[in-house]
Amino acid sequence: MVPECPRCDLHFEREEGYWLGSMAINIGITMVVFFAAFIGTMVATWPDVPWDALWVVTVAAMVVTPLIVHPFSRTLWVALERHVRAMSDGSY
Ligand SMILES: [Zn+2]
Repeated sequence: MVPECPRCDLHFEREEGYWLGSMAINIGITMVVFFAAFIGTMVATWPDVPWDALWVVTVAAMVVTPLIVHPFSRTLWVALERHVRAMSDGSY
């Protein structure tokens, strides 16, 4: 990731630990994917739930989902942080 936005020169990592919020968003989205896949499969296939396949698919999804979500969670975090900062500055 580039340190500054190529269009407006916004410095992304404002302070150490800045991306913690992005990680929280990423974990939240990954948990939603997990529970949607797990509960959705259980409900759709009950009472013959394919436990072995469900285990393999959900574990694979827990590895792949954070990697896919990573750039989007960072973008969302920057937008949220900028929005809240603008509101608290009174410039919003
Ligand atoms: Zn920009």
